[in-house]
Amino acid sequence: MSAGGWVLEYREFLPREERLREALCTLGNGYFATRGAAPEAVACETHYPGTYLAGGYDRQSSEIAGRVVENEDLVNAPNWLALGFRIGESPWFDLKAVELLEYRQGLDLKCGLLERAVLFRDAAGRHTRLAQRRLVHMGEPHLAALETVITAEDWSGPLEIRSALDGRVENAGVARYRDLARRHLEPLEARRAGDDMVFLKVRTLQSRLEIAQAARTRVSSTSEVRYVGEADYAALDFNASLAQGEALRIEKTVSLFTSRDRAISECGEAARAELVRAPDFAALAASHALAWEQLWRRFDLELQNEAGDTQLILRLHLFHLLQTASPHAIDLDAGVPARGLHGEAYRGHVFWDELFIFPLLSLRLPEITRALLLYRHRRLPEARANARAAGYRGAMYPWQSGSSGREESQQLHLNPRSGRWSADHTRLQRHVNAAIAHNVWQYYQVTHDLEFMAFFGAEMFLEIARFWASIATCNETLGRYEILGVVGPDEFHTADPDTGRPGLDNHAYTNVMAAWVLCRAFDVLGALPEERRRELRETLALEDEELERWREVSRKMRVVFHAGGIISQFEGYEKLAELDWEAYRGKYGDIHRLDRILEAEGDDVNRYKAAKQADVLMLFYLFSAEELEELFEGLGYPFPADTIPKNVAYYAARASHGSTLSRVVDSWVLARSDRAGSWRVFLEALQSDVADIQGGTTAEGIHLGAMAGTVDLLQRGYTGLVTRGDTLWLNPRLPEELRCLRMTIRYRGLALDVEVRHEALQVHARASNAAPIALGVVDAVHTLKAGETRRFGERSPL
Ligand code: BGC
Repeated sequence: MSAGGWVLEYREFLPREERLREALCTLGNGYFATRGAAPEAVACETHYPGTYLAGGYDRQSSEIAGRVVENEDLVNAPNWLALGFRIGESPWFDLKAVELLEYRQGLDLKCGLLERAVLFRDAAGRHTRLAQRRLVHMGEPHLAALETVITAEDWSGPLEIRSALDGRVENAGVARYRDLARRHLEPLEARRAGDDMVFLKVRTLQSRLEIAQAARTRVSSTSEVRYVGEADYAALDFNASLAQGEALRIEKTVSLFTSRDRAISECGEAARAELVRAPDFAALAASHALAWEQLWRRFDLELQNEAGDTQLILRLHLFHLLQTASPHAIDLDAGVPARGLHGEAYRGHVFWDELFIFPLLSLRLPEITRALLLYRHRRLPEARANARAAGYRGAMYPWQSGSSGREESQQLHLNPRSGRWSADHTRLQRHVNAAIAHNVWQYYQVTHDLEFMAFFGAEMFLEIARFWASIATCNETLGRYEILGVVGPDEFHTADPDTGRPGLDNHAYTNVMAAWVLCRAFDVLGALPEERRRELRETLALEDEELERWREVSRKMRVVFHAGGIISQFEGYEKLAELDWEAYRGKYGDIHRLDRILEAEGDDVNRYKAAKQADVLMLFYLFSAEELEELFEGLGYPFPADTIPKNVAYYAARASHGSTLSRVVDSWVLARSDRAGSWRVFLEALQSDVADIQGGTTAEGIHLGAMAGTVDLLQRGYTGLVTRGDTLWLNPRLPEELRCLRMTIRYRGLALDVEVRHEALQVHARASNAAPIALGVVDAVHTLKAGETRRFGERSPL
């Protein structure tokens, strides 16, 4: 798989795996990304070329099961990569129509290049070598390039090359969505724009986003160039002639702009001007590699361990994270789509997965987190309207968010096993609001960015707190507050199994998170400078009586327990049937999507103690034992020391891992009590995308939450890194298999080189003007200044 932990490599062409590899070999820069499809490929059973722009959505209506539903999709933009060739009059080159004698595809993570080297024999017995390299520029967000070298090994004769901008594309990457409208683009302009340049401009049908592309193609020796065009297709055909052993070089450079870009007059003009200025492939590759080198300096994580591919897969995860949420996000209005910019699954929507992604970004390049939090802040008016429409106060962010922040969750869900559409209640996942509040608080803990908190974060936080206080109703009999009719992260439970009523009551994770938000709201207010606090309270009309209610709800929120100190996932969970896991595993093998299996059998997963992801465990993922003890005791519930292990054992045994996030959480919550078990689950979680263990879903887009979450397991999980109370805490417990971990994190303006071994910890603060920080190791707090190095555990164990 790897050369020095940096190259993801494939040595064989396997048509059935091609779509998966396309997702895993996607190149992007946070502004746009392009799947790793072969340049000569068009969408078919084997290949699915796709290019997606951050925030590039369009809405269309479709008729499904007798109902008209509207869906918003991340639009597949015109394929800039398209480049085909043919020898003489023979058919255009197609990997499946030739005999492959050598094949290598490598994704070089260090310098962000996707390479392909092929030696093939065609039907006429000729041998030809093809070598290609491509990039989507990490430094210049509007540029991409493809270099191709074709060598006539044992023949001579004419060669025709076609280099195109192909706007005849649709959103057809996910089979389950085949009944939905796929067409999102209308052509505006396609033409030749110079000797070696073509130009294409399209517009999304509903959102009216103009997308302009210009392509320059230079061929090392050519006799004739011809324009081939359609309304939504612009290509140049080059005729060349090769002598035996001769190589032809083709350089295609592309620029891409949209009507939403800043500092431009018009996107078509911008695309052409950028391309005229663009240097050749070698110069682009060099500046691109520099941009990646700088990112790796901040993000790389160095391991010393036995397991072969761990380092490479972690880098692959960081690579895809940075291609989706890069420094270019800072100037964009885009959220972080759960499936990256790598495919069309979940239609490019933004969920709660930020919760798993931001800790990594915040401790490396917090400016990106800030930009992504601003995506939420801009959608605060919509969240307020959402809350009002549902009869609540404050801000209720949608479960699935896209362009405007309106609720984009689908209303109907197709079970591909049964072919049946059914109502989808997953939109009732109000916990996304707690995640957003948590993200604001975490970002502030790491950065101490008071300006952000004062002008953006606090407003969101307080409006979310207000929402939680308003959705909570008082159960007079119990003297407790309750939250009714919601869905938790475990999407297998969305309705009462007996009545079919959507939503669940007193969902533990939701209720505890609501209490946490309401408690923290006072810390948020306390953190603000006096005049800003006053302004915000005036603007939000936040009176003392309301704050009093928040305090009351935060102390009296209900949590339901069942026998043996088990926190009930929701009220009534205890009465559900136990699933015969062995029988189902025996019958179906892969039971990740137990919900679909049971529905196809005419049964309902709501009836069972079976979770897609065990969401009670989320509490132990987000909070330390001490924090939970404080929270539960504040609520008037005991939190004995064995609560965590008991609940972990109970719920881990009842999860199907139907979400890739599930293993991240499982591994995390085992990290302290069962290091070997934790490492085993961590290794499984690492395989989620690279080995596509979720049954073919990666081909439709990577799982960004799990990708970031696995890296964060090392960054925070095994190092015991916690940012709390103005202190950076470290309390490492490396798994046996991991001898040493090195990383650089940023905390409150200081860059810290951290080296963790089993017996020792070293932290070095790089030179900076930032103020000293409080560094807590195990249970003692130390002061660390810029330029200082501290070592722990050398004389006595950590
Ligand atoms: C999970 C959600 C997640 C979404 C997007 C779903 O399968 O259940 O928790 O937010 O995927 O990644």
